[in-house]
Amino acid sequence: MCCTVLGFARSADFAEDKPAGTPCRHLGADFRCGIHERLVDRGYRGCTAYDCFGAGQHTTRVTFAGADWRTHPELAGAMSAALGVLRGLHELRWHVVTALGLPAAAAVRAELAAADEELAALADLDADGLAALDLAAVHGRTVEPLRRAAALARGAVDTSGRARDARRGRARHDRRGAELSGAQLLGADLRGADLRAASLRGALLLAVDLRCADLTGTDLTGADLRDADVRGADLSGALFLTRVQVAAARGDAATALPAGLERPRAWTAARQAKP
Ligand code: SF4
Repeated sequence: MCCTVLGFARSADFAEDKPAGTPCRHLGADFRCGIHERLVDRGYRGCTAYDCFGAGQHTTRVTFAGADWRTHPELAGAMSAALGVLRGLHELRWHVVTALGLPAAAAVRAELAAADEELAALADLDADGLAALDLAAVHGRTVEPLRRAAALARGAVDTSGRARDARRGRARHDRRGAELSGAQLLGADLRGADLRAASLRGALLLAVDLRCADLTGTDLTGADLRDADVRGADLSGALFLTRVQVAAARGDAATALPAGLERPRAWTAARQAKP
């Protein structure tokens, strides 16, 4: 679904133009990507930095009960519209499920569980129900328990010791617990920064230098990490860090990632950051 519905323009992330609503020329008859193992080499890094959070599969398997746009072209428009809504619901639900896994967020667990239940039920609406759904309103009532969960998790981080890089005598910026939500930090020098328990929620971190920084317990919800240099950084305890954010950043073999997040293939050949 995503390889057809979404469009992209020739750039550093995509080797060619593809209008929205047309299948990518690398999409096989079996709906698999024909260059999946070589996406970066073939100039499609943007595809590795995309995640529909399972919305594409849900659209075809559940909402349209196994139908696909090739055998049912008349459904293509409705499927595309449903995918847009479902992606929002699934991404929101990923955050809720992640928050439910935070031990420090026990005080909001009941609200999170209710949100999870609501989001699961909404995702199972039929195509007309999804089209009529006010996604912004759903987001509005879900984001509050998420914010509180993040605040509780940040508050539980022990920031009394020294950051990872500080142990090597290199901590350059002490931003422990800093409130940097929505901050515009494009290209900023945060190399070796101690950002433990800080909030970078919704922050613009394009091309920011985070080499060897410590982001333990840092809220990264919705932060834009495109081209952020995270070589040698400790992201292992970062909060709400998605696969999309990781793939958009530039790391190396020394970047510590949370359990369950795969190291992007593009990172393996990268030179390691000097501490
Ligand atoms: S290159 Fe592969 S993953 Fe990217 S849009 Fe085309 S088929 Fe999909």
